[in-house]
Amino acid sequence: MTTLATAPSPRAADTDRVLVVGIDGVRLDLLPSLGTPHLDGVARAGFLAPVEVDAATPTMSGPCWTTIATGVGVAKHGVWGNRLDGNRLDVFPDFTTRLAADCGRRTFAVGGWEPLFLARQGGPLFTAPTRLGYVAPGADTPEGWEEVDDLVTAEAEHLLGLDEELHAGFVYLGAVDETAHFLGCGPEYRRAVEAADRRLGRLLAAARARPGRWTVVVVTDHGHRDEGGHGGRSPEERTAWIAACGPGLSPGTVRPVLHHADVAAHVYTALGVVPDPHWTLDGAAFTV
Ligand SMILES: [Zn+2]
Repeated sequence: MTTLATAPSPRAADTDRVLVVGIDGVRLDLLPSLGTPHLDGVARAGFLAPVEVDAATPTMSGPCWTTIATGVGVAKHGVWGNRLDGNRLDVFPDFTTRLAADCGRRTFAVGGWEPLFLARQGGPLFTAPTRLGYVAPGADTPEGWEEVDDLVTAEAEHLLGLDEELHAGFVYLGAVDETAHFLGCGPEYRRAVEAADRRLGRLLAAARARPGRWTVVVVTDHGHRDEGGHGGRSPEERTAWIAACGPGLSPGTVRPVLHHADVAAHVYTALGVVPDPHWTLDGAAFTV
């Protein structure tokens, strides 16, 4: 039986909008030495904070992105690796699906990693946003993924440019992670992070060209060892981060310790949606 228990949202403003940009595998400790002006701008206008992948969660993309998008941890969503089989996304859906199905909002999700967007490898994580965009890599190489991320960014720019309501969206950029797996965290990796930042700049411009009061969240899922690779508990692997700016977000207002599950929770809050207790979110809004 379906419960329509969604709390009627005390809509702070009908113009509130949220863009979440997920950049896979970006090491926090390398950011200060890189040219990432757009991420720096988000951090300056709001905050950039470390997030430790908790001990129960493998430092892998599948479980971490699922926690980010659903607002619940592995014990609930059931995604433990990069195959999403056995997940409980029917009970704990991603925010683009929940907002569209239960909250009367229009959403989108765009990216190029199959299990997030397609019924492959146990996916998709993003089950039923209002609009869904998937771009297949021509080749599973760093170059192939740079092309995909460019096309993904263009698709998101297109969606953000449409003359229709869109309240929240998720954009996935994967080239940074792919580059680390192939080439380690050297000069190519650093260039990939800077390229991702330029794409973030395009996405910010597209969002800000739309009317609305925007919250922007930029988040990574895990880090990498120097030689490339993750899944373990070293500080380089388990340290992720969240940056965000928007109404109510400034360093003084943000809770001292944030978790991945807070991302989905903050998306709801930023849209004036009060999470139903039955959703049993593990995360909470970024603010105190
Ligand atoms: Zn990843």
